Amino acid sequence: MLELRGIKKDYPAGDSTVHALKGITLAFRDSEFVSILGPSGCGKTTMLNIIGGLDKYTEGDLIINGRSTKEYKSRDWDAYRNYSVGFVFQNYNLIPHQSVLQNVEIALSLSGVPKKERRRRAKQALAAVGLETQIKKKPGEMSGGQMQRVAIARAIVNDPDIVLADEPTGALDSETSTQVMDILKDISKDRLVVMVTHNPELAEKYSTRIVRMLDGEIKSDSAPLTGESVGDAAKDDACADAEMGRAGKRKNKKEKKKEKKKKRNYEKRPSMSFATSFSLSLKNLFTKKGRTALTSFAGSIGIIGIALVYAVSNGTTSYIDAVQEDTLSSYPLTLESKHVDIGTLMTTFMDSAQSKGEHELDAVYQKQAIYDLVNALGTVSEKENDLKSFKKYIEEKRNSDADGTGLKDAVSGIQYTYDMDISVYTKDTDGTVVESDTREMTRSIMAKYFGRNVSSSEEDSASSSAASSGGSGAMSSMFTMGSAASMWNEMLKGDDGKIISPLIEKQYDVIYGRWPASYNEIVLIVDENNEIDDITLYALGLKTEEEIDKIVDAAINKEPVDFEMQSWSFEDICGMDFRVVLNSDCCVYDEASGLYTDLRGTQTGLKYLYDEKGIDLKVTGIIRPSEDAVSAMLTGSIGYTTLLTDYVIENCANSDAVKAQENDPSTDIFTGLPFSATTGSL
Ligand code: ADP
Ligand code: MG
Repeated sequence: MLELRGIKKDYPAGDSTVHALKGITLAFRDSEFVSILGPSGCGKTTMLNIIGGLDKYTEGDLIINGRSTKEYKSRDWDAYRNYSVGFVFQNYNLIPHQSVLQNVEIALSLSGVPKKERRRRAKQALAAVGLETQIKKKPGEMSGGQMQRVAIARAIVNDPDIVLADEPTGALDSETSTQVMDILKDISKDRLVVMVTHNPELAEKYSTRIVRMLDGEIKSDSAPLTGESVGDAAKDDACADAEMGRAGKRKNKKEKKKEKKKKRNYEKRPSMSFATSFSLSLKNLFTKKGRTALTSFAGSIGIIGIALVYAVSNGTTSYIDAVQEDTLSSYPLTLESKHVDIGTLMTTFMDSAQSKGEHELDAVYQKQAIYDLVNALGTVSEKENDLKSFKKYIEEKRNSDADGTGLKDAVSGIQYTYDMDISVYTKDTDGTVVESDTREMTRSIMAKYFGRNVSSSEEDSASSSAASSGGSGAMSSMFTMGSAASMWNEMLKGDDGKIISPLIEKQYDVIYGRWPASYNEIVLIVDENNEIDDITLYALGLKTEEEIDKIVDAAINKEPVDFEMQSWSFEDICGMDFRVVLNSDCCVYDEASGLYTDLRGTQTGLKYLYDEKGIDLKVTGIIRPSEDAVSAMLTGSIGYTTLLTDYVIENCANSDAVKAQENDPSTDIFTGLPFSATTGSL
C-alpha cells in the first residue's frame, strides 16, 4: 500500500528554484496497472523516482505500508529499494559485458541469497518474460524489445510489490512495444505497476488506471481510490478476493505471502544502495579475482591502492556485514602483531586535501596535496599488539563454557599464523624454474603498464618481517596487503586435531581426488566454473611468461588477441610438480668470503635449489566452492595444510644459516655488516 500526501519537490537551479512537483496526493492499490501521462518536463520522472525512493521529497509525506517515511533511515530506504521495488528504464540499463542471466542475477547477488537459489530465481524470471532460451547471450546480441524484457526480468526477480517503469517503450517500435506491455500487464496481476509513458493509446489499451499530470500537478485520475479503501490495504485485498469468489485463489495469495516472508528471512539485511549496486562493473570488485587484484595492487602502487581499498571497503560495509554474518569466513577478524590505523590516515588525508583558500573563481588556483599527504603519513603510528597474552586469553575463553563472554559459541574457527611466506617453485612448459606465485607476475605487469619498475624490496622485507626484527613503519602494513594476495593459502585446521576445518569442507566440494592428509599434500582451488585465471596459470607453470607477455602487450597497445580455450585434465593437474624450497636452504655458505649468499638470485641457482633441495608437493585433489556457499574463504588457488607450515618452520629453525645468524644476532650473515637500527630485516 503506497500513498503520496502533498508531495512537493524543489530543485535548486542557480539563483531560482524549479518546482518540479507542486503538491501531489495520490494513493495506489496493491495491484493495479497505472499509467502516468503528461508532457515532457511536467514531473513524471521526478514523481516516479520519489515513489521508488531514488529521490527525496522536499515536502509532504510518502506512506509505505501505512508507515510514514519521514523518519526513514538510509537503511530503511535501502531495504525498500532492494526488496520492495523493481525499476525498468527507457534505456534498459543492462551491463553489456555480462550475460543475460548474470544481468538478472546481479539484482540478487548482493542480498546474500545463495548462488544456486539466485540462479534458479533468475532463470524463473527470464522464463516469465519468454527469454529462457537466450540466457547466455550478451545484451548487445539482442533486439531492443528483448533487452527491455531482460530489464523487466531483473526488476521482478526479487518479487517486489511495486514495479516502476519510466517510458519502457520509449525506444521501441510498436510491435515490440506491444510485447513489453503484455508482460507488464501480466506482472501487474499481483503487484502494483506504475508506468510513465508518452503513448496514450498504449496507456488506454493496457492499464487499469490513467493519471494525467501537468506542470507538477495531477490533472485527472481515471480510477482514484475511494475514501474508505485508502489506508486499509488488508481490507482492500479481502474485498478483491471476495469479489473473485474463489477461495482457491485466496489461499494461493496467502501461501505466496508466507513464502515471501520465508524468503526474506535471509535477506532481512539491506545490502547496498540501489545506485551502488547498479553502478555497473562494481560487481567485479566482489569476485574473488577482483578482490585479489585489488589487494595486490594496493601493495604495488601504494597510496592510490590504499585509497581504493578504503573507499571500496567503506562504501560496501553493509554488504560485507551481510556476508560476514552468514559465514564469518570471507572477511575474518584478523589481529596482527603490528597495527596501523589506515582509517585515520585516510581521514586525515582526505580532510586536509580539501580546499582551504578563499579566493575568487577567476583563475586556476593551487591546492596543497603533497605536503598534506606526507603530513598525514606522519600522523600514523604503528602499534605493537601483545598477541601472546591475547592468544592465552582467547584459548582460555574458548574452552570454557560459563565465562559469560560467549566466545565459545561465537567463533567458527581460529587460525594462528606466522607472517611467513613459503617459497614454492615449479617448472613452466619451457622448463624454466619459476616461483609459483602471482605477485611477481602482477608486479611485472604493473611495471610494464606504468613504464617503470615497481620496487618489490619493501614488500619482501615486510612479509618476512616476523622472522626478523620488524617492518618499516606505516608502509609495512600497506605492503603486507600485497602478500594477502598470494595464491598459496594455508587452510584453517579443525579443532581436535583435524587437518582441515569443517568450515572449509562445508564451503568446498571435492570435484576430483581427496583432501590433503599430510604435510606434502596440497589441493588446487578452482572457481565455480572450473576456471583459473591466466596469471595464476602462469604461476602454476601451465603457461609461459611469453604467453602472458603477449596478452599484456596486446592489452597495452589496445590490440585484439585471440583467446584459445585451453583446458587441462584433472589427472594432468594432479601430476603437476611443485617443490618447496626452505628459505634457509637458499642461503649457502661461501668459504672464501665467510658470508652467506642467496641462490634464488639466478636461474642456475634456482635450478640447483629446485633439483637438489626442493621438497616435493603433491596435488591430491581439486576443490570448488560449493553451490550453496554464500562465500568461500580461500582466496588463492592452492591450499596447503598447517602441517606444511609447521614442517617449514621446524626445518628452518634447525638450519645452519639460521643458527649462524642466531649465534651472531648483531651481524648480517649476508653482508657481514652490523644491522642498522632502522632496517633490521633479512
Ligand atoms: P518528465 O519526466 O515529466 O519529463 P521530470 O520529472 O524529468 O519531467 O522534470 C520535471 C522538472 O524538474 C523539469 O523542469 C526538469 O527540468 C526539472 N528537473 C528534473 N530533475 C532535475 C534536477 N536534478 N535538477 C534540476 N531540475 C530538475
Ligand atoms: Mg522523464
